[in-house]
Amino acid sequence: MKTKILLKEADMPTHWYNVMADMPNPPAPPLGPDGNPVGPEALAAIFPEELIKQEMSAERWIPIPDEVREVLRLWRPSPLYRAHRLEQALKTPAKIYYKNEAVSPAGSHKPNTAVAQAYYNQQAGIKRLATETGAGQWGSSLALAGQMFGLEVRVFMVKISYEQKPYRRSMMRTWGADVFASPTDMTNAGRTILKQDPDSPGSLGIAISEAVEEAAGREDTNYALGSVLNHVLLHQTVIGEEAKKQLEMVGEYPDMIFAPCGGGSNFGGIAFPFFADKAAGKEVKLVAVEPTSCPTLTKGIYAYDFGDAIGLTPLLKMYTLGHDFVPPGIHAGGLRYHGDSALVSQLHYEGLVDALAVPQLETFEAGVLFARHEGIIPAPESTHAIAAAVREARKCAETGEPKTLLFNLSGHGHFDMSSYDRYFAGELVDYDYPDEAIKESLAHLPKVKFDFS
Ligand SMILES: *Cc1c(COP(=O)(O)O)cnc(C)c1O
Repeated sequence: MKTKILLKEADMPTHWYNVMADMPNPPAPPLGPDGNPVGPEALAAIFPEELIKQEMSAERWIPIPDEVREVLRLWRPSPLYRAHRLEQALKTPAKIYYKNEAVSPAGSHKPNTAVAQAYYNQQAGIKRLATETGAGQWGSSLALAGQMFGLEVRVFMVKISYEQKPYRRSMMRTWGADVFASPTDMTNAGRTILKQDPDSPGSLGIAISEAVEEAAGREDTNYALGSVLNHVLLHQTVIGEEAKKQLEMVGEYPDMIFAPCGGGSNFGGIAFPFFADKAAGKEVKLVAVEPTSCPTLTKGIYAYDFGDAIGLTPLLKMYTLGHDFVPPGIHAGGLRYHGDSALVSQLHYEGLVDALAVPQLETFEAGVLFARHEGIIPAPESTHAIAAAVREARKCAETGEPKTLLFNLSGHGHFDMSSYDRYFAGELVDYDYPDEAIKESLAHLPKVKFDFS
């Protein structure tokens, strides 16, 4: 019986799949401060034209430039695994497959889009990219990608993570990026915050403001975002395209697909190529898995809201907990976002994509179970998908159903070992975000002139 199902380099996808082409209804347009839809011009100050085109495109297939495929080839196609040992441990008749995105140099799926974004910026004559990073997954992915295309990369890293995750910082520097603890005194946004609170630990919202200010203020500098936007999800569809081919090689098709969901990019990446079949009538359940402490899809509402904490971005129609929602300090940093991708949100609203929230302790329990049987130590984000697949496999053990399950192992946890330590020490707790607190944040949603729903 096969454990690793491998594609040849020549089998790497040549096109990205754009789910917009198969959606029953297009997602609602982003709105500017005046309440009108934002046009491409508004985005041109911080994004290159090709990415803006992809953001708005409804073409089903978009070619992947050869230069991008050449870099992706350093680790793609990524392996698909059959989790034989996990299945045995669970005594389940279910077949469990997982796509291993931890094999990228940065250790997660994020370089799939970082490489494409760096390429299009270089083609547009841009010399520098500015971005923010929380735990450091995105910053290290963009540092790697910038290096591959000769771009300078400047990363504003949330100060508290800068101090707590020194090795992510070292990775970025090894790949040639400049990393600063945000808030810095280099931007107006940073200086304003420091004046109010010189000891500010920083936040993703502040770091975004600093990166966007830098990109908007300099001709040679653009901004890059690691999730949420349509073009980011588009670039991640290589995951699902490859997985589909790999399952075909062993004569399988999944009944259910699970992925952790923060901004929606690795979920969209693995699920959307299968959505094309679902739109054509095939039965497959696509499940986005989130923490009970940041339950965007399961407890948020579908409304226009800002993408950042401060209110600088255009308004996006999405599931949101409110832009001033402050998620508790859970150990899956990549899943602590108040909103979600517009594409995933629209599909969930229409009942075409399912969502499930799992508590923190269950995710670590599943992560340790996985590590002890499959070997790989998963990122705390990825353990959410594992926990959901384990739940389903246990159900199958009760009912006797031999379901085929697929999940995305979005990254490894080598830089998150202190979280595992805290779990073993019994210091982690479950946290259900209280309904009243969600209501409070939702009361601050921006009022919009038009709602296109
Ligand atoms: C960033 C991250 C996520 C969550 O981001 P999405 O955009 O929802 O994919 C999940 N897993 C890992 C390992 C990450 O680094």
